[in-house]
Amino acid sequence: MKPIIIIAPRLTKLFSIVVDVQAITLFPFIISRTKMSDETLNHESIHIAQQKELFVVFFYMLYGWDYLKGLFKFRDKKMAYYRIRFEQEAYAHMFNENYLDNRKPYNWRRYKV
Ligand SMILES: [Zn+2]
Repeated sequence: MKPIIIIAPRLTKLFSIVVDVQAITLFPFIISRTKMSDETLNHESIHIAQQKELFVVFFYMLYGWDYLKGLFKFRDKKMAYYRIRFEQEAYAHMFNENYLDNRKPYNWRRYKV
């Protein structure tokens, strides 16, 4: 199933507290500020895959846990965001357009906060 893409600049801006958010993924939706680049779409599609594996709710629980852990460890909001396991996987592979075709399930587990 392909994600449903919604363009909503004001809603996306609301989430830009820590970093400048271009898009938010909430399975099966990708809410984007503007038309996405291929890399951003790939990044968000990686989050879709992760959310499917964790029934969305556990994705957000772990996402929050990783963020708090990073915040405690690094005392830096931006650093904490980039150290979230799901973000590490998405940023590491967003420029590889074939990544999702070959991705191992639960590959985010390779990363550590
Ligand atoms: Zn992301």
